[in-house]
Amino acid sequence: MNKGNKLYEGKAKIIYETKDKNLVIQHFKDDATAFNNLKKAKVEGKGVLNNRISEYILSNLTQCGIKNHLVKRLNMREQLIRKAEIFPIEFIARNIATGSLTKRLGIPEGTHLEKPLLEYCFKKDELNDPLISKDHIFSFGWATENEIKIIDQMTLRINDLLTGMFRAIGIKLVDFKLEYGKAWNKDTEKKEIVLADEISPDTCRLWDIKTEKKLDKDRFRKDLGNIIQAYQEVARRLGIMPEETNISEVNFGKTIPIKFKKK
Ligand code: 5GP
Repeated sequence: MNKGNKLYEGKAKIIYETKDKNLVIQHFKDDATAFNNLKKAKVEGKGVLNNRISEYILSNLTQCGIKNHLVKRLNMREQLIRKAEIFPIEFIARNIATGSLTKRLGIPEGTHLEKPLLEYCFKKDELNDPLISKDHIFSFGWATENEIKIIDQMTLRINDLLTGMFRAIGIKLVDFKLEYGKAWNKDTEKKEIVLADEISPDTCRLWDIKTEKKLDKDRFRKDLGNIIQAYQEVARRLGIMPEETNISEVNFGKTIPIKFKKK
């Protein structure tokens, strides 16, 4: 599948068009950003690992009946995906309190939540992706009540499936962020809701069950070091380390700061 024009470039990924108007190519960059772009670096090899980890997770979700945008992985950094009209909302699910939940509400770090907590944030970098209510979503027409009902059910099911998948490899799924969109279904000739974006250590908080060691992007956010080693550990436990033959093409593990401004 040949790459066409660049359609969109985000913080960690680039989307290219293809000859098929319903399919696009998603390219995973090595760039890492945090605190709304105040902290930036290139973490060499991150894009390769996220591509592989996200492919593995989304393929497993497909097998469990969760509709998502993945068609197939094309190479080390790229996937062929269905083109989707993305809802301007970040859908967050939490099992253990940490991050912005503890900061905002003073809930003690590490509190196990009785049931998964769903949150919505408006995807708007200029505003720092603010937390919003369902009524904001309906009032401003960002999604309908029925769409949110479907997405909530999908998110809770994904949480169940991923919690089990990670528990089996000694990892706690603390929280994660999902994105959804509407994509064309050529069989039904209608648009349908699909899980989009990626699921990887960039978008989840993953803690080792025994040691509570962080195996996710918090290693970058909090300057804990060994970012790539943590992502590799997740890939290794999932049984999907990148093919030996390709590893030499990537300079794994180096973190090159781009910019760091203190707030
Ligand atoms: P928090 O709201 O505590 O910062 O994040 C909750 C969860 O959503 C974490 O797993 C975090 O990685 C993920 N998350 C929230 N916002 C973003 C974002 O803008 N980008 C990425 N990659 N993950 C996010």
